[in-house]
Amino acid sequence: MAAAFPLKQVVGDIFADDDCDDYMITGFEGRHKAFVQIQQGCNHRCTYCIVPYARGKSRSLPADKVVAQIKQLVAAGYKEICLTGVDICSYKPSFCEVVRRILTQIDHLPLLTFGSLDPAALNDEFVEIVAEHRNIAPYFHFSVQSGDNEVLRKMGRRHNREKVIELCAKIRRVMPEARFGADFICGFPGETKEAFNNTCRLVQEAGLNKLHVFPYSEREGTPAATWPQMPMEERRRRAAVLRQLSEE
Ligand code: SF4
Repeated sequence: MAAAFPLKQVVGDIFADDDCDDYMITGFEGRHKAFVQIQQGCNHRCTYCIVPYARGKSRSLPADKVVAQIKQLVAAGYKEICLTGVDICSYKPSFCEVVRRILTQIDHLPLLTFGSLDPAALNDEFVEIVAEHRNIAPYFHFSVQSGDNEVLRKMGRRHNREKVIELCAKIRRVMPEARFGADFICGFPGETKEAFNNTCRLVQEAGLNKLHVFPYSEREGTPAATWPQMPMEERRRRAAVLRQLSEE
């Protein structure tokens, strides 16, 4: 039977999407914490990551809408507002600017927290904001991934281990009670024993308190998936070592 519609599929170009969806993600921990998505998509191309191909380019929710959403949530009784997104530090026109606006334009904001932060994108302006506002939670979670500069380069990350150490030290200087979390990938292609040791050392040198550790897993369509791979058993072993370090 002939199809009643032309057999032609039009697949949208995900990278043509310029709009940031404007919807509120509310918390699931009772009426305590609410999540506000300020940004979607990503313009970076970390060699292990498939996210930009699924989520498109970076788009930011206009600051006026961000502030309006948070005002509404604070009025509804939420005690903690967490800014989320795929790559919130790439918020345009400026991540620090939108954070300042939130902190200065919303009265009685109890606590502001952040989703995963990119160390490469955070500068002294962010540290100044932390120093100036006591309603920023003393916990920061960074997307670190490795403590070895050569592995970071192969990953296509834009920071190095020195940047992570310096950032934690600067924040701790203005907020001594600050605690730090980090994401790590273990067993990335080409991660030597020395490189893995550098990751373990970074945990102590930067004073990272809470680690989210994952053994590297290939994502089809990414450059790193085509490189020579380490046996999964060794990736898992390294991840277990790092988790143990985190608990200690
Ligand atoms: S890891 Fe993060 S910054 Fe890198 S491409 Fe994926 S979403 Fe973007």
